[in-house]
Amino acid sequence: MNEAPIRPDDRPESAPGNASSPSPDPEAIRRERLAQIPTRQRPIFRRAWMGKSRKAAIRAFCLECMGYQSAEVNRCTAPACPLYPYREDRL
Ligand code: SF4
Repeated sequence: MNEAPIRPDDRPESAPGNASSPSPDPEAIRRERLAQIPTRQRPIFRRAWMGKSRKAAIRAFCLECMGYQSAEVNRCTAPACPLYPYREDRL
């Protein structure tokens, strides 16, 4: 049983790569994300999103990875992770 190939025009409006779909608003996405981040850690994410601090970007990524538990980042047990040597306690 052969299925017909999906042509670009067959994809729904919201499908990734569909040129006719509007590009996402990064600020709207960040506002939505920020609402899920504990208040105390929001400045780290704001600094990371400004693109001026690699340290903040790494910290934000690790915090997100560890469910925003700062102590857990320091206790990370994933030495194969490329960010492992750059965790906060190592910077
Ligand atoms: S170093 Fe650890 S806490 Fe940071 S992103 Fe990798 S696995 Fe997550």
